[in-house]
Amino acid sequence: MGKIAMKTPLVEMDGDEMTRVLWKLIKDELIEPFVDLKTAYFDLGLEHRNETRDQVTIDASMATKKYGVAVKCATITPNAARKEEYHLDEIWKSPNGTIRALLDGTVFRAPIIVKGIEPYIPTWKAPITIARHAYGDLYRDVEMKVPGPGKVELVYTPADGGDEQRVTVHEFDGAGIVEGMHNIDASIEGFARACFNYALETKQDLWFATKDTISKTYDHRFKDIFADLYEAEYRTRFEEAGIEYFYTLIDDAVARVVRSEGGFIWACKNYDGDVMSDMVSTAFGSLAMMTSVLVSPHGYWEYEAAHGTVQRHYYKYLKGEETSTNPVATIFAWSGAFRKRGQLDDLPDLVSFADRLEKATIDTIEAGEMTGDLARITTFEHPRQLNTEDFIAAIARRLA
Ligand code: NAP
Ligand code: MG
Repeated sequence: MGKIAMKTPLVEMDGDEMTRVLWKLIKDELIEPFVDLKTAYFDLGLEHRNETRDQVTIDASMATKKYGVAVKCATITPNAARKEEYHLDEIWKSPNGTIRALLDGTVFRAPIIVKGIEPYIPTWKAPITIARHAYGDLYRDVEMKVPGPGKVELVYTPADGGDEQRVTVHEFDGAGIVEGMHNIDASIEGFARACFNYALETKQDLWFATKDTISKTYDHRFKDIFADLYEAEYRTRFEEAGIEYFYTLIDDAVARVVRSEGGFIWACKNYDGDVMSDMVSTAFGSLAMMTSVLVSPHGYWEYEAAHGTVQRHYYKYLKGEETSTNPVATIFAWSGAFRKRGQLDDLPDLVSFADRLEKATIDTIEAGEMTGDLARITTFEHPRQLNTEDFIAAIARRLA
């Protein structure tokens, strides 16, 4: 049987450490035997980012704008320790931050559900996808220590010379702290649009929550922007698709999420998304089973695993020790990208390859063959713990 042909290349962003090892194994054993792979390859490994002064990250983002669909390996976000380890010229920015800023996207994270890896919450039957607004609020705030008695105000000075606006934050009797946050209507609207589109694309209900009863101007603005956009552009399409947009208060949302069966998208403000995505991924069982897709309102898609480069395993690998690193989220990044590419290029064979790759992966785990992280938490009585290479080989056998 011939290999499956592609039309448009996928943008391929290679990465670092143990996930770079997985990347090559996945390509060699699970993809290239079956697909006549066409990619625009960019090496986002830290050495090459340093050599190109991080230009490669920008080039890869631009290629994603050109071709529309990218698949990315996990990458190191450098810090002082990494600067020393890799002899970097600078502490380069987070590649994910750079890509997200250039593509102007929203990240959707969803767990991969398999039998034998049961969520801590027994009612959860289907994935809960978290969408995090990635601009503003706490993450772009300014803060001040107030040394002693005095007044703190918010002042708005219009650029066109109109009337100033001023509100008192607090009249301090003694020392304290103060913080100023902002957000931008256009960013909130872009986030809302990405969420509505992704709900239609995946045929799932969309939930959104803020604390608008307490934050009557700030959080209320989020609520209004979502509601207005929904009424103006999405209500009819949601009704046709048989899905629902549901708004509630954040504390009510948390209670309902815990009692739910899953199977919806939960749109979160920046801080809520930061916290709740860790809660949801842990409650579903394993970070190594979380996928992540960056969806841009301009129609670009970037697929990756939610976890990092699994540094601790990589150091074992370098010493020649056996590793048992879970490649599932990285495999699903590839299958997600193939499915999207196949849909856009009208290549049903590529779409069905994505389905088969995912099924072979899930079947392997459900047959009791899994990596150590899953073997430790599975409800199966006698799991077979495989090393990294053998687990991928077990998937390859099923796929063939
Ligand atoms: P990590 O790579 O996600 O790993 C943290 C721990 O989680 C691992 O040590 C391992 O636990 C477990 N784990 C994660 N993925 C696993 C997998 N596929 N299979 C088995 N176990 C897995 O996070 P990190 O160690 O904090 O970060 C390492 C590097 O990744 C950092 O340089 C960071 O900048 C980068 N990072 C990149 C991304 C991205 O590119 N999207 C995201 C996050 C972090 P045990 O050691 O207990 O087995
Ligand atoms: Mg977090």
